Amino acid sequence: MKTIFAELDQMATKGRVFVLSLALMLQVTACGGGNATKKVLVIGIDGIRVDILAETNTPNIDKLIAEGFFSDQARTNVRTVSGPGWSSMLIGARTDKHLVDSNNFTGNDYATYPEFLTRLERVDSSFNTFAVVDWAPLGTTASGGPLFSEAVDELLFFDGSEEGYHRADSLSVAAAVDRLENEDVDAAFVYIGDADEVSHATGTYAPEYMSAIEEADVLVGRLVAAIRARPTYADEDWLILVSTDHGRDEEGGHGGDSDQERTIFFLAHGPSVAREPIETGPNIVDVAVTALIHLGVEIDPAWNLDGRSVALRVARVQ
Ligand SMILES: [Zn+2]
Repeated sequence: MKTIFAELDQMATKGRVFVLSLALMLQVTACGGGNATKKVLVIGIDGIRVDILAETNTPNIDKLIAEGFFSDQARTNVRTVSGPGWSSMLIGARTDKHLVDSNNFTGNDYATYPEFLTRLERVDSSFNTFAVVDWAPLGTTASGGPLFSEAVDELLFFDGSEEGYHRADSLSVAAAVDRLENEDVDAAFVYIGDADEVSHATGTYAPEYMSAIEEADVLVGRLVAAIRARPTYADEDWLILVSTDHGRDEEGGHGGDSDQERTIFFLAHGPSVAREPIETGPNIVDVAVTALIHLGVEIDPAWNLDGRSVALRVARVQ
């Protein structure tokens, strides 16, 4: 089991002072997560503009925000399209490294820069991982994909362009709920794509876009409820991260470098989350690194990642 004590051992062997370990131990005791098994769920909602999210009725996301850490001033890549967005978020490194700068994934360097679930499996293949996606390049060979490698224990794909993203998102979340409720999951990613699709068709200020965000919120609620329903939930320390790959321009498109397109949100929830505001706003590359560090992975400088841990109580081991 990957417990906090394993992390402390690691730190001790790295020659950190005992005082620091003791301080950490006290902090962990204070938040009650000492022996809890660390788990991560990353929920990615495509193309959410933060000001529209704020105006939309999203009780499930609001509850996570109220109990967790939230920034609506996080930043995504200069090139605000989904290919580089999801790559940077889930790898923890920028475009100049993974080499995906459009929705054509051909020429990617995912071999050197894998997403966080593959990274996790490479560190320790006993981690149980899954990803559920309905945008083809994330889960299939379409457009030079997939982002997720065969190292991930289970990669599920529901075809959004075939089924419609609204239906495919529901199928994705139902599959994820089943696994979260019934399996020994350590880390997972769930993609929700409909809001982006709807906004491309109807615009940034369309009521249809707000409705699609509200639907995404319902799906987030189902995922959170599934985690809370786990028979082992009381012994676990779940970090739930929710973010988006890019914002939108005034018409509902994206791809440029305006503030409305580059500003994204970063939401972290769980017993290990520190709620205090941070000095420098999060970046999209922080999602993967935060997930890995929560799971007790020591970030190897040779991995050349750009992200940092955001909003975690336990200092990063690096
Ligand atoms: Zn997108």
